[in-house]
Amino acid sequence: MTQESGVSPSDEVSAFREKVLRKLTYSVGKDSASASDYDWFEAVALAARDHIIDHWMECTRQTYEGGCKRVYYLSLEFLIGRLLVDSLSNLGLFEVAREALAELDVDIERIRLLEPDAALGNGGLGRLAACFMESMATLQVAAHGYGIRYDHGLFRQAIVDGWQHEQTETWLDFGNPWEFERPEVSYLIGFGGHVTAIPGESGGEARHFWHWAEGVRAIAYDTPIVGWRGASVNTLRLWRARAEADFHLERFNAGDHIGAVAEEAKAQSISRVLYPADSTEAGQELRLRQEYFFVAASLQDLLRRHLDQRGTLDNLPDYAAIQLNDTHPAIAVAELMRLLVDVHGLQWQHAWKLTTATLNYTNHTLLPEALETWPVGLMERLLPRHMQIIYLINAHHLDSLRQRGVQDAELLRSVSLIEEDHGRRVRMGNLAFLGSSSVNGVSALHTGLMRKTVFTDLHALYPERINNKTNGITFRRWLYQANPHLTGLLVSSLGEALLDDPQHRLRDLEPFAEQAAFRLQFAEQRMANKRHLAALIQERLGVSVDPAALFDVHVKRIHEYKRQLLNLLHTVALYHAISADPGGDWVPRVKIFAGKAAASYHQAKLIIKLANDIARTINDDPTVRGLLKVVFLPNYNVSLAEDIIPAADLSEQISTAGLEASGTSNMKFALNGALTIGTLDGANVEMSEQIGREHMFIFGLTAQQVEARKRAGEFNAEATIIGSRRLSEVLSAIRDGAFSADDPGRYVGLIDGLYWHDTYHVCADFEAYWQAQLEVEARWRDPEQWWRSAVLNTARTGWFSSDRTIREYASEIWKVM
Ligand SMILES: *Cc1c(COP(=O)(O)O)cnc(C)c1O
Repeated sequence: MTQESGVSPSDEVSAFREKVLRKLTYSVGKDSASASDYDWFEAVALAARDHIIDHWMECTRQTYEGGCKRVYYLSLEFLIGRLLVDSLSNLGLFEVAREALAELDVDIERIRLLEPDAALGNGGLGRLAACFMESMATLQVAAHGYGIRYDHGLFRQAIVDGWQHEQTETWLDFGNPWEFERPEVSYLIGFGGHVTAIPGESGGEARHFWHWAEGVRAIAYDTPIVGWRGASVNTLRLWRARAEADFHLERFNAGDHIGAVAEEAKAQSISRVLYPADSTEAGQELRLRQEYFFVAASLQDLLRRHLDQRGTLDNLPDYAAIQLNDTHPAIAVAELMRLLVDVHGLQWQHAWKLTTATLNYTNHTLLPEALETWPVGLMERLLPRHMQIIYLINAHHLDSLRQRGVQDAELLRSVSLIEEDHGRRVRMGNLAFLGSSSVNGVSALHTGLMRKTVFTDLHALYPERINNKTNGITFRRWLYQANPHLTGLLVSSLGEALLDDPQHRLRDLEPFAEQAAFRLQFAEQRMANKRHLAALIQERLGVSVDPAALFDVHVKRIHEYKRQLLNLLHTVALYHAISADPGGDWVPRVKIFAGKAAASYHQAKLIIKLANDIARTINDDPTVRGLLKVVFLPNYNVSLAEDIIPAADLSEQISTAGLEASGTSNMKFALNGALTIGTLDGANVEMSEQIGREHMFIFGLTAQQVEARKRAGEFNAEATIIGSRRLSEVLSAIRDGAFSADDPGRYVGLIDGLYWHDTYHVCADFEAYWQAQLEVEARWRDPEQWWRSAVLNTARTGWFSSDRTIREYASEIWKVM
């Protein structure tokens, strides 16, 4: 929000002020004397929206007239966050708006906080989709995002007595000034029923008709997404489910009132709520309905657009590239085939060529429990025609392999679309792989593992298909908006041009790392952010923390593989060490945790409770006062991330190697000048190559070593624990109730589990982690070295801009650049 240096022209300010007043009067219906802060937020948002609309219409017209290829990004999740500052800042209007509001006696910093945080996603995958939308608009890639407009986004997390409670999220309660309802853009989506066929004429292919039993209407809601300096504006089109009115009225009039209402509720439930599971299975019928619902509406919409403009589907891949964000939209393979063959009458082989040339798939996880499969029985009941199509795709696929001489029954079984072992199920990963021309992973390590693990056999058959596109983050949100202090410093050192090309220009910061005066300024801006976070911690938790202490931050979804538990063991070990020698020369630290656990994930919720139990015990203990504090900030979301990340000194990225596909918060932290303590996992590997290993704290088992231990069945941690007095003492303390006097047995199961089956190698990595933390302290005691490393982290993170990622997708997969 600092990109407009100098003073804004006063006529621009007064024009904006007048616009806000008009919106307040005629759209919000309030006068400035009685307007609440929220009314002001709405008026400003609507004024900003007007500016976007002018660009938006122009962009839509240009794309239409230019006849260029469009990108369609299908994602069940978009973790957007707030849009006010994002939009104003990208339009170059933030300073104008600030001044205009100041003239009206309104503080923009106050009203920006009233915007609800749009949390239509769980974590990294949804946030990636949001960063990509912004980068595509910035790079003028003509793109549409497609997803679901959930009435309720990800639950709000309350911490009650240390336990996570899930509360309904209500982002739409006061309306949403950014969206446009498009009642005229709607499609009828079918479910259930049966299929009939009539034989083809003169030996041609049979024609199939799906007589679905239940129809749900999808209605479009459009949100404009504006790129940097208003470069272009793209559309995020989210679908809302409504009951088909006539259908239910008929039943209602016939006297079946309850039935009609139930039908209506069932239809609307499809877009009611986001599935709150992250990297864990959400195998429910409603989930499959959601997936098919948004895929079917999106494909109908884009085919209609294509036909309007081109009049034929034969050239679909020349004008449309569809990216499937994980397997959630993988049913698109069967749905596109159905639309092309059954609805538009194309021949099967021709349709298959078009489908595979149009679709592309991004894999996000290797965790077996998160790879989607659907029971064949459920598919037959809900999507009978799609099940037929999947069988037919599979038959062609296996036939063509046999023709290529593949005999190995084991191999054929592994590449089949149907899993036969645990009840018959459709493998959505294999379906997405076969139906796409590109299959990409999200970091070099992850892509390598995809080739070696989940898709080994498919990769051997189609060696060209798998490619890597390492994730990125948009610097507009994660640097300019989240950290105006640092941005101001960078601009004053490197010039305004930095803002237009941070990916390359940030490197120019490297020589500044050698200047003592600059390092001091860098540390000072950091201190301002830390004071802000300390105030927030005081306000929300009533815990006072010293901004001068080392802020050691671990924020992300709570998951065993992300190993918050390892960090908690270190916290307790540190607590023991300080307690034993309270007069020692300790580095004062604040351990900061935040993150949500899937509502059904008991172990993760217990880890949240443990964090809070440890926090309470340590914060209450006068022996370690001033040396160690622990806080768990509730309700982690994009807005909280924007407050926490710019204030972090140390970034915890300590997943079990081989299990984090990429991570993106690792990039956000490094960009903002935090040093990383981490394993060689996901994009940490590429970060260590870009930044230099000596400016990070890399420790622990490598993915290869983890794999070797797994193969050898080495999960028993007893010997490791016996061999480490420090670890034994930590585990005993937790197990024996040192942090849970009210329920001494609370953590017995958790700790005993580590002894007998340390699935995530928490104990195996403990000593290496402890050592790495000692190196952290040594560096921190040497401010010159610490801040030199910090500046170099910022300077060398340019490659992780999502603009770089999108350029790679655009040129190598979508062929639009
Ligand atoms: C970036 C981000 C994530 C992803 O974090 P990881 O540490 O990479 O898993 C999750 N949630 C929010 C709110 C984020 O901003």
